[in-house]
Amino acid sequence: MTDNGDIRFYIVEEEYGWLSNFWRAGQRMPWPERFARVVLTDDLYVKTNEHWYQANKADDLSTFCWIAKAPHPYLAMQAGRVCLKPNQSTLRCLRPGWEQVKVDVMLAGLRAKFSQNPDIKAKLLATGEATIHEDSPSDAFWGGRSSLVCGCSRPNHAPHNTLGKLLMQVREELRMQQMRPSVWDDIFGEPPSKPSEPTYDYANGYGGADP
Ligand SMILES: [Zn+2]
Repeated sequence: MTDNGDIRFYIVEEEYGWLSNFWRAGQRMPWPERFARVVLTDDLYVKTNEHWYQANKADDLSTFCWIAKAPHPYLAMQAGRVCLKPNQSTLRCLRPGWEQVKVDVMLAGLRAKFSQNPDIKAKLLATGEATIHEDSPSDAFWGGRSSLVCGCSRPNHAPHNTLGKLLMQVREELRMQQMRPSVWDDIFGEPPSKPSEPTYDYANGYGGADP
């Protein structure tokens, strides 16, 4: 925390590392609608919110599963970046309309991460009204480091801090949920419980064979 009470996070090992998408909280997610028809299991377990976010870039189920089950969030991130590369003609794996849905995908993941893990839910609520900044050294869309200049057409070109803003939104939602649980059932679903990691089937992976 800085002098003015703002919270900055980036490195997982540091004080506020649990705010990072690389934090291994574990979370269960619904299968994306476009795959739900062909996947037999009820839900999907991911080790980190980074796995969830990056996997959603994939347009096909096998790439989605590959990223969602990557051994480390850094590998999930790298694989997600490959999906974005427009010039790799052999890798036509980016989901159409990704730019329009990516913030909603991130928000859904953050809601699951914090509502399903009581330890970090309590920590998030305990930050009160502090402003949260993702202190990425390079990303002016998700991050909010003040020295960064955003390249988009917004007039002041300040870093957007989209991830920090979503974390503050989830904090507020969780606070509201505690006060009036019934209002938030639609957003957060079942009462939170720490998800357990499913066992891995070495023949078929998590959740059975690909169709
Ligand atoms: Zn901008």
